Amino acid sequence: MSGEQLTVLEGLDYKSGNPVRVTISEGKIREVAPVQEEADGSLPWIAPGLVDLQINGYFGIDFNTLPLTTEAVQEVTRRIAKLGVTSYYPTVITNSPEDIERLVGIIAEACDSDPLTGQCIAGIHVEGPFISPEDGARGAHSKEYVTAPDWELFQRWQRAAGGRIRILTLSPEWDNAPEFIAKCSAEGVTVSIGHTSATPEQIRAAVAAGARMSTHLGNGAQLMLPRHPNYIWEQLASDELSPCAIADGFHLPESVLKVFLKAKAEQLMIVSDAVFLSGLAPGEYDTHIGGKVVLTPEGRLHTAHNPNILAGSAQMLPFNIEHLVRSKLCTAAQAWEMASTRPAAFMGLPAAQGLNEGAPADLVLYNWEEDKLMVREVYKNGSLI
Ligand SMILES: [Zn+2]
Repeated sequence: MSGEQLTVLEGLDYKSGNPVRVTISEGKIREVAPVQEEADGSLPWIAPGLVDLQINGYFGIDFNTLPLTTEAVQEVTRRIAKLGVTSYYPTVITNSPEDIERLVGIIAEACDSDPLTGQCIAGIHVEGPFISPEDGARGAHSKEYVTAPDWELFQRWQRAAGGRIRILTLSPEWDNAPEFIAKCSAEGVTVSIGHTSATPEQIRAAVAAGARMSTHLGNGAQLMLPRHPNYIWEQLASDELSPCAIADGFHLPESVLKVFLKAKAEQLMIVSDAVFLSGLAPGEYDTHIGGKVVLTPEGRLHTAHNPNILAGSAQMLPFNIEHLVRSKLCTAAQAWEMASTRPAAFMGLPAAQGLNEGAPADLVLYNWEEDKLMVREVYKNGSLI
């Protein structure tokens, strides 16, 4: 035997800014050691891989539309890995029970038939159909399929998914929600509150039953709310809830992001919530459910008939990090953490160990060009993507 294969990378530690040499073997970080910076200052930044808790699709491939092939899921995995996303939760939204079952089954099969996909998909996020039937709160989810929490149904999907459903977004406004949430929690499924018009009491009952996350807080909400109390204040005030936010600059005003950061500090996480049109060129597109939509050169996605109405997010995590940094809401290191080690820690993934000895070698090398984040190289479990 010639001994173990070593990969050595040099870069600036994303947190400290100090030049480091990262030694990788057998998929793990073996050592992170300080080095002298090269005189020409050419070292890229080096950081743990990004972790996205909510992605609906990419590059024209939609996790929510049949037919979906295992190859398509694998293609999304490779494409977003190149953007630095080394762990993610494909998100299947409100649909007919049969279609949800099929879709999660195909995603599970994609994991089983391709090692990289199996490693990158940390779990499946099912968003709905146990959400609010109310307009505004329901967002773009089809009212036809919105229904009260149903344990039998959920078990059916979980079987089809081979136990891979790790996050479930629901609204606790249904009478049986606390009981259902307690069952999910007992099985290790993270229950997230979203697309809700629940009362503060119902939110508190959900938290008491085990809900621990808020899905895209501040979005998927009614346009008009009582000033207080309301479900946004209640979730912000709940110490047990770790919220996710879409920080693309289009979904939430900077003042709201700032308040979320202050109120939730180390608990706030960033998700892309990207739809299948993400990664495509600006232009007008036809969507099967939402009609015509427009993706602007700035990266904003809106309905064609009314530019004021967003049609989902079209950006991946690096774009969200850029926005947080550009708007000076936090440091680049903090923004990166909110999109990598923090969601990893929240979901109990080994990637939570970050840029440290023993961590999985999920690594991103990148440069900042002005305020653009340019990804150079990405490693998943030590293998170059
Ligand atoms: Zn949503």
